[in-house]
Amino acid sequence: MRSPREVAVVGAGLVGCLAACYLARRGYEVTLYERRPDPRHAAAERGRSINLAISERGIDALRRVGLDEAVLKAALPMPGRMMHAPDGTLSFQPYSADGRRAINSISRAELNRTLLEAALGMPGVRAFFEHRLTGLDVDSGRMDFATPGGAVSRTAPVVLGADGAYSAVRARLQSLPGFDFSQDYLDYGYKELTIPARDGEFALDPGALHIWPRGQAMMIALPNPDRSFTCTLFWPKSGPGSFAELDTAERFAEFFAAHYADAHALMPDLADDYAHNPIGHLVTMRTDPWQVRGARAAVGLLGDAAHAIVPFYGQGANCGFEDCVELDRCLAETGDDFPEALARYGARRKEHADTIAELALANFVEMRDKVASRSFLLQKRVEHG
Ligand code: FAD
Repeated sequence: MRSPREVAVVGAGLVGCLAACYLARRGYEVTLYERRPDPRHAAAERGRSINLAISERGIDALRRVGLDEAVLKAALPMPGRMMHAPDGTLSFQPYSADGRRAINSISRAELNRTLLEAALGMPGVRAFFEHRLTGLDVDSGRMDFATPGGAVSRTAPVVLGADGAYSAVRARLQSLPGFDFSQDYLDYGYKELTIPARDGEFALDPGALHIWPRGQAMMIALPNPDRSFTCTLFWPKSGPGSFAELDTAERFAEFFAAHYADAHALMPDLADDYAHNPIGHLVTMRTDPWQVRGARAAVGLLGDAAHAIVPFYGQGANCGFEDCVELDRCLAETGDDFPEALARYGARRKEHADTIAELALANFVEMRDKVASRSFLLQKRVEHG
């Protein structure tokens, strides 16, 4: 196949937009197709990971295309984690020995907008919104989309699926012989809650990722630039203290007040958040291979489409950003032989993605349980209040 200069990226989320930046820098004509309306004009979806932690792995990928400063200027550094005991006692655990290294709380919507604007600011990049991929012919690279104006078809010699955990591109590959795919759901769900600003200031220390470890369950909170905190409650789906058991506003509030008392006192909108924010699922998805070579097209997967992981290491997006770096490296090594570069990229990245998937699962046990044990508690103990 002639080395193509046109690439279709399905999904203008975090990874699709960064991939477009990398590809445009190599001189490719990139077309992004996104199911949702243009995020530059739309409000963030309620209750879907409003913020996320970006760490050095992700920052490195941003730095290589000159986007680290634009992204980090809106970020809140978190140099450690603050543990909240049931009696309200606080203990700070720094992430690095010198206390200077931090992970960064960033608004998902803001990050997506920054990356999209960066991509569209580069020569050869364009985007079509409200284009939901409904079909893909791997041999020809023909893509079918549902749009508000009806069905449309487009063709590209390279199609990259950056369309998230429930990827339509991957679904098409799954029907091909020799393609392995697995998904494992945790028996846990998550719900987002809010601690608003108090008298215009942060109600908790903004220089930490806050954790309420409660044995079989936990809550975390990350600061936002508007001085609120977005909290994520990770609870079992069934059994004692689960979403199924605490299924009315009254039961939920009573249980929450008993087990998360210090946070409860800071949450005037708890009943509203509980009623309106959905319960999200936690899934690990593994895929092999990450690419398929058709007769006249090459198809590859990036980001969650290739490797959805549970969020307990805060590495899903970071890992997807690293995919972009590796694909770029493989394109350089192969003289932009796209099918060959995709094969090399997938073979190299898979073991890293599998490893972070395992670490993320293990970190759930550590965060909800072990970080609260006496032997684990380090250094600074801060009296509540
Ligand atoms: P997505 O962000 O899901 O983007 C996919 C895009 O494709 C979307 O815009 C979607 O609309 C579009 N799309 C989907 N289907 C179609 C279709 N058929 N046609 C066209 N477009 C389509 N990661 C971190 O690094 N740090 C964190 O702290 C962190 N916290 C998290 C907390 C929670 C609760 C969760 C659930 C995840 C968290 N993650 C975190 C993981 C992170 O959100 C994902 O890894 C990241 O969003 C993956 O980016 P992506 O671009 O691959 O997929």
